Amino acid sequence: MSSSDDIGEAPWAARAPRHSLTVSVLAAAAEHTDCTFSKLALAGRVNLEKLFGGTRYEPGTGADPMAIKRGRLFEEILKKDDYAELLNLLYEQDAALGALGADVRIARLRDLSVPAGRSGLEVRAEATRRELAKIARRDWDASTLLDGAVIRARIGGEVAYFEADGLAAASNGSLHVVEAKSFPLIDGRCDPVKLGAACAQAGLYAALVRAQLREDGLPSEAVSDTGFIVLPKNTRLGRPVLLRQNLSFHIRRAERLLSLAHLDEAVVQRIEGRSFPAAGTGAAERIEGLSHLMDQAGTHYRPECLEHCAAAKLCRERAYKAGRLAILGDQASREMSGVETFDRALDLAAGADPLDHERESARELVRARRLYRRALKGAGP
Ligand code: SF4
Repeated sequence: MSSSDDIGEAPWAARAPRHSLTVSVLAAAAEHTDCTFSKLALAGRVNLEKLFGGTRYEPGTGADPMAIKRGRLFEEILKKDDYAELLNLLYEQDAALGALGADVRIARLRDLSVPAGRSGLEVRAEATRRELAKIARRDWDASTLLDGAVIRARIGGEVAYFEADGLAAASNGSLHVVEAKSFPLIDGRCDPVKLGAACAQAGLYAALVRAQLREDGLPSEAVSDTGFIVLPKNTRLGRPVLLRQNLSFHIRRAERLLSLAHLDEAVVQRIEGRSFPAAGTGAAERIEGLSHLMDQAGTHYRPECLEHCAAAKLCRERAYKAGRLAILGDQASREMSGVETFDRALDLAAGADPLDHERESARELVRARRLYRRALKGAGP
């Protein structure tokens, strides 16, 4: 049973296709906390991939099957002999972990049996909660590794279950998130964007666990700011290596996202009863419905959206048609802060009266225009 079966329905998402929430879905949403449309989709667990499917805005084909296969293989390597290799690496990090203890206990939460009438996620969430409490209380039988944890949290006022992709390693009452990824570390270096995304996921996991401990009256500081990203040492999935990371920035950002995911009444009122289209609606009608909802809720397109959001192709086209400077990316937007569109930038450069929040950018635009004209004159015959 998916998480979406366990929760009440947000009225704006009642007919839309829905999906389960995982830490990676939440991590992608964390990149767009400034976009109300994206928050509505998250709060209603709307499956945007399905809604855009079969339209000309259909997102890319998703994860590369080779990368998925590689990820699975790497996971198998890590799981071999009860995580022996990973545990050895963690022992080497004694300074961070304290004594892991000789008596290793692995909680395999995916293997729990599910009684009739209960959902697997529910059962795993309860078991995760018990295991976390034991770790925070430093019980003698606390687990050393949690595999397959599920955290219960409230998103948009509704209960949701998050499947953690990563592991949690515990020692001496403190818990560290361990995220395994299959992109390689070569000569001590790896893809910084992928590493950033892995840290963002680990930060979300940590934030969810902290929230769970707080809810249970246990010390949330039990979750350390120090997490570990496990990578293969080379492209042939050789020996795993552990990168120690300070996750405090990512945890803070995740905590902000979790608080923002509680939609306030003003947002719900702003969409005035509009809702996401049903899956069976024709392609043109679906896009029209989504565009109306975007108008009503508000979006905040940036080129980075193409990496994380299934609505990005439509948003890019809308931003392009509206002549929005945002399509140039964050740096250009920062340099022309307060100015929303190309037309407005041209007007200001030509000497139009700036509004207060445009004043600084207007000065730069006038100067740039002057320099440009001078350069053109200098280049003349
Ligand atoms: S692509 Fe559009 S809907 Fe998605 S986060 Fe960006 S602005 Fe929001």
